Amino acid sequence: MSEATLETHSFQAEIKQLLDLVVHSLYTDREIFLRELISNASDSMEKLRHLQGTEKDLHDAALPLEIHLTTDKDAKTLTITDHGIGMTRGELVENLGTIAHSGTKAFLTAMKDSGNSPANMIGQFGVGFYAAFMVAEKVEVFSRSWREDGEDLLWTSDGVSGYSIEEASGLQRGVKIVLHLKEEHAEYAEESRVKHLVERYSNFVGFPIHLNGERINQVEALWLKNKSDVTEEEYKAFYEFACHGYEAPSYRLHFSADAPIAINALVFVPAENMERWGMNKTEPAVALYCKKVLIDPSPKGLLPDWMRFLKGVIDSADIPLNISRETMQDSALVKKLGSVISKRVVKLFEKEAEADPEKFQAFYKKFDRFFKEGVAMDYANREGLAKLLRFESSMTEDGKLSSFADYLTRAKDGQDKIYYLVGASRAQLESSPYVEAFKARGLEVVYFTDAVDEYVVETLGEYEGKKLVCISHAGVELDDSAAEGEALGAEETEKLCTFLKDELGDKVTAVASGKRLVDSPVIALVPQDGMTPQMRRMMKAMDENFKDEVKVELEINPRHPLVKKLAETQASNPELAKLVAGQLLDNALIAAGLLDDARDTVKRMNALMEKAMG
Ligand code: ADP
Repeated sequence: MSEATLETHSFQAEIKQLLDLVVHSLYTDREIFLRELISNASDSMEKLRHLQGTEKDLHDAALPLEIHLTTDKDAKTLTITDHGIGMTRGELVENLGTIAHSGTKAFLTAMKDSGNSPANMIGQFGVGFYAAFMVAEKVEVFSRSWREDGEDLLWTSDGVSGYSIEEASGLQRGVKIVLHLKEEHAEYAEESRVKHLVERYSNFVGFPIHLNGERINQVEALWLKNKSDVTEEEYKAFYEFACHGYEAPSYRLHFSADAPIAINALVFVPAENMERWGMNKTEPAVALYCKKVLIDPSPKGLLPDWMRFLKGVIDSADIPLNISRETMQDSALVKKLGSVISKRVVKLFEKEAEADPEKFQAFYKKFDRFFKEGVAMDYANREGLAKLLRFESSMTEDGKLSSFADYLTRAKDGQDKIYYLVGASRAQLESSPYVEAFKARGLEVVYFTDAVDEYVVETLGEYEGKKLVCISHAGVELDDSAAEGEALGAEETEKLCTFLKDELGDKVTAVASGKRLVDSPVIALVPQDGMTPQMRRMMKAMDENFKDEVKVELEINPRHPLVKKLAETQASNPELAKLVAGQLLDNALIAAGLLDDARDTVKRMNALMEKAMG
């Protein structure tokens, strides 16, 4: 080691924060560090295997792809060696000193917010290497890149403030990590302890693992085995290792098929939706293999995008081994594969939802956005996905979810539509005048309260041949119900409508008497081709200059005392009637969430109060 080659660097602030968290708040599960390091070694050798197909000049090309562990009880060290791609000087700095991806930041926030155990989340956020500092007071990383012009390098750190990089010599391609264990964690320098850990956590590594010269793992492709030959323990271990999932998955799909295409798939549905924690869009994590050889750990376009939360393995003997990532998306075979599997996944959800509705409901509450995205974007699975949508309605208890299928079991005989309303919250929808008439007739109204819902139901359009109808739109036909109270006569009603239309002018497209209302005097309906309040709000949020003329159809309730009184006043006191007409429209716009400018409303209100007090 010559002084001249030593470079020192300090860790990026986020890395320091992360290290502090990893070292000081992880009291349990320290042993996962080994799984993280072995998993990195294995990833690196997978990458090398890929390069073997495309690169001619690999340094140390003949080295066997194996992982070697050595323990030294006296020196209190544990060494992990791989013959993967190694790292160049630049890569050492980039990968082990800075955060190249946003994962760590999100990890730190998620840790603060969720109360989750860091061990559950560490692998999912890709901060695995730093777990080494949970047990080591000093970590040395010897590295030789696969590139012919690479250097022999040694990266050293105590995991506190920074690290140094210096030249080394005599290295073989790959990475050798030497952990100088803390006194209290010297147990990891014992062969039996390490052997036990590998058996527990890393049995599914696709490369031979040797401990002090002796082979200790079976390379096994669980997904190729028969379902009945796999134990729950094996599934669990596989999920933990291969999918970096440390919380038991919600669901699992393990199947094989020969036609129309050879498939062995083992797919897991995780327990947590990482996008909820402010993580970037999840990368696809169902890896594509051909006869146990990894083709792509994160194949884009294999499964529909909304399924990106799934984890696992798809192995197809029909896929050519040399298929490149670029041409994969165009391959008819890959498309077929994706289509067969995505159908199975949708079916799985359907089956599981039926078997345990409560469990599915809890799961759905975390993952709903994916299903909605699917309805909007995944045409091939739209029908199946529609069965999975869940929502509250005028007939569900607060917080309980229902499906379109449930809705139809409660529908009236001959009801050929599914009614819905979109708004900010259940409470707001429940008290809106639109729902009155439907409640009075015993018709169920679905409440959609998520910002994306409106778009989703509009793209869906119908469910099992029943049209989805938004009840704030004009033109919704309802039967005459046996409404209480005497109504205004036909002629008087006609006259009143004409008066209102004249008075309100351009602000309304039409005024008509209707059957919807029970307790409210009037209601504002959005014309059938008009923009709903939610859509307007979204447009306004996106474009501050967005302006449109609000035009509604006004429906009056001929049984309401205020309406009946207005018919009289129109003749006896036209001045007052005009004020009331304007105010009635504004009230209806407020209830619909469509009143943008309340200046006139306030003035008119004041005039009305003056009149009321004589
Ligand atoms: P992750 O593996 O989730 O990306 P880590 O913190 O474990 O996060 O590792 C950071 C990066 O360091 C890896 O993405 C990889 O590029 C590099 N790295 C870690 N271990 C090795 C290794 N044994 N061989 C080559 N590169 C490695």
